Amino acid sequence: MHTDLVAALDIGGTKIAGALVDGRGRILLRAQRPTPAREDGDTVMRAVEEVLGELTRSPLWGGARAVGIGSAGPVDASAGTVSPVNVPGWRGYPLVERVRAATGGLPVELVGDGVAMTAAEHWQGAARGHDNALCMVVSTGVGGGLILGGKLHPGPTGNAGHIGHISVDLDGDPCPCGARGCVERIASGPNIARRAIEGGWRPGADGDMSAAAVAVAARAGDPVAVASFERAAKALAAGIAATATLVEIDIAVIGGGVAKAGSVLFDPLRRSLRDYATLSFVRHLTVGPALMGTDAGLVGAAAAALSQEAGAVDLRPAVGS
Ligand SMILES: [Zn+2]
Repeated sequence: MHTDLVAALDIGGTKIAGALVDGRGRILLRAQRPTPAREDGDTVMRAVEEVLGELTRSPLWGGARAVGIGSAGPVDASAGTVSPVNVPGWRGYPLVERVRAATGGLPVELVGDGVAMTAAEHWQGAARGHDNALCMVVSTGVGGGLILGGKLHPGPTGNAGHIGHISVDLDGDPCPCGARGCVERIASGPNIARRAIEGGWRPGADGDMSAAAVAVAARAGDPVAVASFERAAKALAAGIAATATLVEIDIAVIGGGVAKAGSVLFDPLRRSLRDYATLSFVRHLTVGPALMGTDAGLVGAAAAALSQEAGAVDLRPAVGS
């Protein structure tokens, strides 16, 4: 009988995933529903309750002692509410209270999805063994989270490490967040594609105008596609270097669809880091791809819940695990 389980929820604009996860990060049971993102808030909550219902009906449920939630942001962990950009029915929605009610009063830990991904990479992935790390998701948007002093640092509202909205271009293009020249405005997938198209790049016969298609062109040597990835890499490097200089991280881990571009992104990123991370205490900074894949949200939500139980679980994996 497992007695060290946590329930994990990964809530995004397209799917709501749930799992029972053990103290070593293994997923023992899964449940999933599409997110009814265009519906009202209570309808979205019913989909969450269906996912939780599949978990609570399992004989394993008796071993669950906490719930971790990683949600698309913004979240407010201090208030227990979420307002995901792509789920308009949820604005200041009291998700923590509702989940607690649906799970018989278990303690509930809420973090943003970037923070959850960071917890997963630190526990099981590319940031494992690093006490000070920045993990990022670069896809439609750019998010992230921080490990400081060996511990997840979600911040008071669960959003710390949101590197996508650090400005790296003071007079740059307006960002939907209200600022200018944000990392996301330059380095997200849609912005990589937009800049390539503005520079004259044209998609192939399949009409694919995504950043993935730009990456294929860059790999084939298309100079406009290469330049768009180099610009994105520069923005990421400036943001990573700033973060390293502030809090002394020694690794930056990058996941999300844009990271799948591989060397097209990482080669110029490593070059640019040498230009921006110049002080002695950040020069050793390394950068690499995330390892956790599609389960990062669930495993990370579980890790966030476990890390709240002070001393109950050592989140550093056992040797050989
Ligand atoms: Zn912004």
